[in-house]
Amino acid sequence: MPITKTQKVSLSRQASDSPEGIEYAEVESPQVTGPHDIIIKNKYAGVNFIDAYFRKGVYPTEFPHIFGREAAGVVVAVGDAVTDYKVGDKVAYIAAQAFAQYKKLTDKTVQIKKLPEDTTDEGLKKWAAILLQGLTAITLPIESYEVQKGDFILIWAAAGGVGQILTQFTSSLGARVIAIASSDEKLQIAKKNGAEFLLRADEDIPAKVAEITQGEGVRASFDSVGKDSFEASFESIGRKGTLVSYGNASGVVPPFSLGRLGTKNLKITRSLLFNSVQTKEEWNKYTEILEDALSNKVIDTTIYKTYPLSEYAQATSDLEGRKTTGKLVLEIP
Ligand code: NDP
Repeated sequence: MPITKTQKVSLSRQASDSPEGIEYAEVESPQVTGPHDIIIKNKYAGVNFIDAYFRKGVYPTEFPHIFGREAAGVVVAVGDAVTDYKVGDKVAYIAAQAFAQYKKLTDKTVQIKKLPEDTTDEGLKKWAAILLQGLTAITLPIESYEVQKGDFILIWAAAGGVGQILTQFTSSLGARVIAIASSDEKLQIAKKNGAEFLLRADEDIPAKVAEITQGEGVRASFDSVGKDSFEASFESIGRKGTLVSYGNASGVVPPFSLGRLGTKNLKITRSLLFNSVQTKEEWNKYTEILEDALSNKVIDTTIYKTYPLSEYAQATSDLEGRKTTGKLVLEIP
């Protein structure tokens, strides 16, 4: 399939708190220029909260900024030196600028997963939906705090994209999950995913956690909410416990005094998936765990809605507005 000269992408030309400035624009398509290049025609891309951080300027980027961090599609061109990939291969990957019709990677890129030849369009959609959030949900309870059987674990935004898989995976490790979400409907989703205790975000979380754990506190709080949840997380964790901060959905956690950790000998970690799966060994290890967990039905993803690429602004508006549960996916023309 020839690569068209121009392609449709979703981009913002300047930082903005609201999704209003997001454009469905036309830019030049990438072409093979180096011997190790691979060009992928994207078919589906996963929507993630991180795209909003780049748009808002919470994470540094250059503008115009093309959105997207993961996609699945078909290889349509390869450079002369490429031997591991051929035209027609189906792949899923994690990389920037994935909300585009075409993506250039190289055969040196670590974060690509080759999919079986018979992967259908539905299969591509599933991989675009699960890759980034699934790996996040698997690496955190292994690397950031190694969850043990019987641990009380607090999970914020438990009905969200990462939250659902994190609840499933952490429960499967034998943890007693205390799920937090903003509505009863969302909490019922967390229950289906294995959460044992359900707390509404507007409750007195530390008091409820103290009741559930008989004053011991949780071993770890997996906190993706950030600014609004930090203090409640801190208070809910027991002596020698761990605060796993992995997102800023409500804003960035303000600076705090290191000395506060000494009040309970706490640990705080701030993890980014990209830094957990940088080497080929790390990528292979965690994608294998992901595949096993999927095939053993330990985890799964629920697609909330599939939007056309041209409607990314609506998709992120729904996500940032706390209207969604599970995963949002874009279909790329
Ligand atoms: P979600 O589907 O979880 O959506 C975000 C959820 O956060 C909302 O549904 C909402 O759940 C909750 N929330 C609480 N306060 C706010 C607020 N003020 N504004 C918006 N949402 C709020 O998104 P994702 O699954 O894509 O991502 C979840 C989190 O994980 C994000 O913070 C993201 O940045 C982080 N992440 C981190 C990674 C890493 O490598 N560290 C990788 C991937 C994701 P409720 O209504 O129930 O409170």
